[in-house]
Amino acid sequence: MALYGIDTEGIRKLDALLSNGKTVTVTAHTHPDGDALGSVSALVSYLRERRGKDAAAVLSDSPASTVRFIVPGSVPLLCGDTDPEACAARIAASDLVVLLDCNGFSRTESLQDAFESSPARKVLIDHHIGPDRDRFDVVFSTPDVSSSSELLYYILLELPDIGGAPGRLPADAARALLTGMTTDTNNFANSVYPGTFRMAADLIAAGVDREAVLADLYNRYRENRIRVMGYLEYEDMRITPEGLAFIIATRDILDRFGVEEGETEGLVNVPLAIDRVKMSILLKETDGHFRVSIRSKKGWSARDCAVRHFHGGGHENASGGKLFWPGDIAAPEEAASYLEQVSRDCLL
Ligand code: 5GP
Ligand code: MN
Repeated sequence: MALYGIDTEGIRKLDALLSNGKTVTVTAHTHPDGDALGSVSALVSYLRERRGKDAAAVLSDSPASTVRFIVPGSVPLLCGDTDPEACAARIAASDLVVLLDCNGFSRTESLQDAFESSPARKVLIDHHIGPDRDRFDVVFSTPDVSSSSELLYYILLELPDIGGAPGRLPADAARALLTGMTTDTNNFANSVYPGTFRMAADLIAAGVDREAVLADLYNRYRENRIRVMGYLEYEDMRITPEGLAFIIATRDILDRFGVEEGETEGLVNVPLAIDRVKMSILLKETDGHFRVSIRSKKGWSARDCAVRHFHGGGHENASGGKLFWPGDIAAPEEAASYLEQVSRDCLL
């Protein structure tokens, strides 16, 4: 089998769809992370610069300020939270739609209906389990790859005009791919495969400035991000007897520190450094629910926990979902006791 299941027939079909398409819309999951933004940007850059397409990115939510830089100025971007009519019009006018970094249009939330009812041909490129195959003309899907950015990189290499030469990728695309892979692997800490290092080596050889990527990703935060993370780790984190660490970032705390979208990214990983912690959960309060991030060590399943207790899903050791009130819990104050039950259910 070809690398990551990238088969010749799939590449042939994809190449034909890209050749026939004129107006191509590229999208990814809601609250786009670095991998979503990196893969979407890279594909739009490639389609515009190498194939001369009217390609644009359409996302349900605007990128957080911490990862906004991943989308280069040359990539047109429409967002459902700020410009829903323009998104709907763009989707309706598209003859090809490509979904990246999630397994189905349900994860585009507010844009789901527009995408699903669109007559455009559809392509899925993703690394989550359970792809919604029936909705797509072509599917590239494997969970055994670091990121959507890496999977897309190897797909682009197979296309005739790139012909296996990373140097033929537009510079913007090369940089976005390296950035997306770097965020999903947590800078080469998780889900790293031989192909991941090969990709990094190829892209650096092709001219991507990795030091600049790392500086943009990890050294440009506002001071309050570091302070609120310290506060939540010191004052808020609790550890159950079974080894679940949890942090509940209430609206009150988030407002007190002036936390913006994206500024608690990575916090959920920190408690896993503690020897007796097997799983870590971060709850972040928004209107009427908590957004849930889950990470686990090998041998415990963050994904099962997300599916069973938080209406979510994701990867084996990195997943997410939601916790609603009233519904799952009567009021936000009951979140801690809900998490204690989750701890017994998932870790005993
Ligand atoms: P994060 O904790 O970084 O927000 O999300 C980690 C991973 O969990 C994501 O890459 C995605 O695979 C998954 N995930 C996060 N939120 C949801 C959700 O609401 N539903 C599903 N199905 N997966 C989610
Ligand atoms: Mn991803």
